[in-house]
Amino acid sequence: MRQLDPRITATRPLDAFFYDILYCKEREIKTQFESLELLKELHLKTNPHLRLCKDIHEVIKFCQEWAERRQELPYEIDGIVVKVNQLAYQQALGNTAKAPRAKIAFKFQAEQVETRVIEIMVNVGRTGAITPLALLEPINVAGSTVSRASLHNDDYIKMKDIRIGDQVIIQKAGDVIPEIVASLPEKRSGLEKIFQMPTSCPECNSQVLREPGEAAVRCINATCPAQLREGIIHFVSREAMDIQGLGEAIIIQLIENDLVKDVGDLYNLKFEQLVELERFGAKSAQNLIEALSESKANPLSRLLFGLGIRHVGAGAARDLARFFGKMEELLQASYEKLIAIPGIGTKIAESLLKYFAEPENLELIKKLSALGLNMLEPDVEGIITPVLAEKSVVITGSLTAWSRSELEEIIRKHGGKATSSVTKKTDYLVVGENPGSKLEKARTLKINILNEAEFRKLLEEV
Ligand SMILES: [Zn+2]
Repeated sequence: MRQLDPRITATRPLDAFFYDILYCKEREIKTQFESLELLKELHLKTNPHLRLCKDIHEVIKFCQEWAERRQELPYEIDGIVVKVNQLAYQQALGNTAKAPRAKIAFKFQAEQVETRVIEIMVNVGRTGAITPLALLEPINVAGSTVSRASLHNDDYIKMKDIRIGDQVIIQKAGDVIPEIVASLPEKRSGLEKIFQMPTSCPECNSQVLREPGEAAVRCINATCPAQLREGIIHFVSREAMDIQGLGEAIIIQLIENDLVKDVGDLYNLKFEQLVELERFGAKSAQNLIEALSESKANPLSRLLFGLGIRHVGAGAARDLARFFGKMEELLQASYEKLIAIPGIGTKIAESLLKYFAEPENLELIKKLSALGLNMLEPDVEGIITPVLAEKSVVITGSLTAWSRSELEEIIRKHGGKATSSVTKKTDYLVVGENPGSKLEKARTLKINILNEAEFRKLLEEV
């Protein structure tokens, strides 16, 4: 959908079903089904097959029915979402770390098909990890053509005994990424070949190493062009620095022409150097220079994610940036301080300390700072005073001024964390109307209990 020209997007036959209302000022909504009725009234498209089931037996029957009938639909589905109808019950059920308990997906068994492994190739990733990949005889599975599947690592190939030339059963895991379920040794002709992991990097020929306790084999050459290429692809990607106009083909050219040896060099690129490159016009060169320049203002969280530190995903980068507010502070952080941050575990803490212990990484950060890249996280630095910094807040009951998601966003913007259950570590419980059992628990644990007005006052304190 993301096109420069919206007319291209407009030509695509896009459609959607609406399935929930998060907040409605005019009308009180008490059940999921009422949300859907209101959506219909508002002429927003809802799924005509939805059904209000009276008990779990009806739910099971519905799931079984659609497992059979799914082929009748003009679109692909991989399962059915079952929701508790009463919104009050939904709220009382709360959330697990990942999802609301009142809304559960029933997944259909994945469609499995048979095909052949033509070849096994290897890819070098940005951390140097060498990942084997199966090239398959193209085949249609669950609505799309599949011609490759990740094989993860050497152990995985050995465990499943997948050989080059094998007939295999594949399926889409969660109906998205294809995986090989099993090889079919009884169909072997004797011409199949056992795959050997390369002992040197396929891109730079350096030695590869498998660290004890790790499944991945890695290229240990810090200047490996494949790692540099993958590192830049990650750095400019949408969730990281989001730099438009820097596709893989251009990145390869920049590396081959010795214009870029690390991500910092991107910011030293000159217009004259870019227009020299293949398939590069004056306009695209100018646009890229501007996109790079604009990206310097990105918040610390994006930069931190873009550096591609192992185990530091976009979420962890955001937690870290919000907690420390500036790169300088993060660089000084001890292991104890890091693991005390909600959401940061031992793996991430160890990886960060290892990354910051490398002089060349510190040099790179210094270089980026000197080039004018933002080393601050604006939510914490300047714009909003973090009254809730390091605080964990739980909400219970229905609120009048805010929807639950609005309040969660407000908590986040003030540096806090909205969590779902009351524990000893909870700092505040915000209580709305008809609070649940969380209120009792907070009383027992002597947690600060605030009503909406009191909470609003707290946010206004500077
Ligand atoms: Zn290499």
